[in-house]
Amino acid sequence: MTTQVMPLNVPSSAPYISVIIPVFNEEENLEELGERLVRTLDGMNRAYEIILVDDGSSDRSWELLTQLHQQHPQVIRALQFHRNFGQHQAIFAGFQAARGQVMVTLDADLQNPPEEIPRLVAKLEEGFDTVGGWRENRQDSIFRKFPSFLINQVMSRVTGVKLRDYGCMLRAYRREVIDSINQCHESSSFIPALANLFSRKVAEIPVGHAERGRGQSKYSLLKLLRLNVDFMTGFSNFPIHLVGVLGICIALLGVAFGAFLFLRRLFVGPEVEGVFTLFAILFVFVGLNTFALALVGEYVGRIYREVRGRPRFVIRQTLGPETSLTKN
Ligand code: UDP
Ligand code: MG
Repeated sequence: MTTQVMPLNVPSSAPYISVIIPVFNEEENLEELGERLVRTLDGMNRAYEIILVDDGSSDRSWELLTQLHQQHPQVIRALQFHRNFGQHQAIFAGFQAARGQVMVTLDADLQNPPEEIPRLVAKLEEGFDTVGGWRENRQDSIFRKFPSFLINQVMSRVTGVKLRDYGCMLRAYRREVIDSINQCHESSSFIPALANLFSRKVAEIPVGHAERGRGQSKYSLLKLLRLNVDFMTGFSNFPIHLVGVLGICIALLGVAFGAFLFLRRLFVGPEVEGVFTLFAILFVFVGLNTFALALVGEYVGRIYREVRGRPRFVIRQTLGPETSLTKN
């Protein structure tokens, strides 16, 4: 499929590009972000809209978004969540509100340069369904990069979703991919992986990456871990298979050990030494058992969350044209 994505069948009022940005306590960055986005997108000579989703910020972010909207009422829209629902939920809300044929996601902290958007869109127009960016010169500390490296390795093996850089949210998608994503109502998900499921042709291009100039990362190690456990259990049953195989191996080892002890009893006679070794082995088994139970619990918890079917996010107010945001 190499059809060009052209704004032919789009009514003139509808934007061609929708840029979607989650915002959580980013007051230091919003002014510059708005300015650089508008400048870049103006330069593309395509109808566009920018959707900023305030993920329950407690600082002046919403005030600044309101100002941005007032400065550029034609192109800047804003949604405000009732409380913090998470980066991916914010992007989901943005996807539902977006009207463009091409959608671009971006972080608000200016670590992903908005100036890369034209390159992503150009690549998409070569006939790809999704274009992901990977951070060529990632400007994060080693404490952030090393876990990411491990996560990238584990994730691509475990989930079978091959992405060069899972954490990079500077990505462009065709409308069709987002339409499919909008039909998924799972309560926690990982957008780049989900998009891959619905894309036939995926391209990845290197993109610039800047150090976070202002503000703090909104991800603690725990929150990052949570996101990745969600990703892993949401896209794969591999962890449960692994524990199963491990269980079988340990049981076999246990049988072998039992046989060994039995033979010693026959040939060496009764002995009590080594009772602490047995304790150590027992602890390993108990630990593994608990781990396995927790893992099953993780999947059960996931099912429970889905079955409850609570709304994934609640929107307090919107600025700019309303779009139906009924099913979330
Ligand atoms: N973010 C969000 N909700 C959250 C956490 C983060 O909307 O609960 C937004 C944040 O404002 C930023 C993007 O998600 O636009 C990425 O967050 P951050 O830069 O803190 O992550 P990092 O770059 O450290 O991975
Ligand atoms: Mg960041």
